[in-house]
Amino acid sequence: MNSFKADLHCHSTCSDGTFTPLQLIRHAKDIGLSALSITDHDTVEAYSAAFPIATEAGIELLTGVEFSATEDEVSVHTLGYGFDPSSPDILSLCKRHTERRYNRNLAILHLLKKNGMPITEEELAAVCENETTDRHTIGRPHIAMSMLKKGYVTSIPEAFKKFLSEGKPCYAQGETLSIEETLDAIHRAHGLAVIAHPHLLKSSKTLKRLLEMDFDGIECYYGNFPLKDHQRWLKIAANKGWLITGGSDFHGEIKPHSPLGCSWIDETLFRNLQQKLKK
Ligand code: AMP
Ligand code: ZN
Ligand code: FE
Ligand code: FE
Repeated sequence: MNSFKADLHCHSTCSDGTFTPLQLIRHAKDIGLSALSITDHDTVEAYSAAFPIATEAGIELLTGVEFSATEDEVSVHTLGYGFDPSSPDILSLCKRHTERRYNRNLAILHLLKKNGMPITEEELAAVCENETTDRHTIGRPHIAMSMLKKGYVTSIPEAFKKFLSEGKPCYAQGETLSIEETLDAIHRAHGLAVIAHPHLLKSSKTLKRLLEMDFDGIECYYGNFPLKDHQRWLKIAANKGWLITGGSDFHGEIKPHSPLGCSWIDETLFRNLQQKLKK
């Protein structure tokens, strides 16, 4: 039996993961993965070091990134794969999403203050300090960690559930970047665009709109969702003629219920993706 497994969704210390790119690749090797994509939020920083390490470990590394774009005020995560990480189109898209995120974080800090839970920018930056890698992307998990540190909540899930999730009192959407412009930039960089974790979409109207867009694939296998939950997405991928992708969305200790390799695609699906990149 072919034991090839590719996990195409995980986060490093360059964004909100707790494993460095080096630790991710070593861990991938240890648990028997054959291929990996590190899909940090808004940054491809991991790839400056990752390729030589992956080659040495015998892990096939596919470039990846995850952006939070917006469709009709709903946040939709889009994965980009297989682009050249030095492509100006990708780098400028990362820069625009990073600016959006910075202002969005300030808006969240403002709402926290209004709700009697002040956190300064300096305190937030201190929580994100990392001995081994430059943290490029600061996100809500770090804000949740700051809230925990200051004693406003007793756990990270509680911070999301009560305050930081969409629709909660301290959630801010920030400036919106459209899915179309995100897809355009990924395509200009000769990458493939994939709908991330459709399992988490709440609105059928949003899904309908996404299925009319210029995506190349859909993340049918996601995190620790049971296999039966994947059928719906596999059917959609088949109908659209889209690529089937999959991954754990591993973040390390901050999301312990989704270990690396808990979702993956096999060699056939991985080679399909590579074939499409060549075209
Ligand atoms: P951001 O990109 O800053 O909007 O934050 C999104 C990240 O927050 C996701 O990638 C998850 O890692 C994390 N996240 C979202 N919801 C939760 C939750 N309920 N508990 C813990 N982490 C969460
Ligand atoms: Zn994340
Ligand atoms: Fe996501
Ligand atoms: Fe993710």
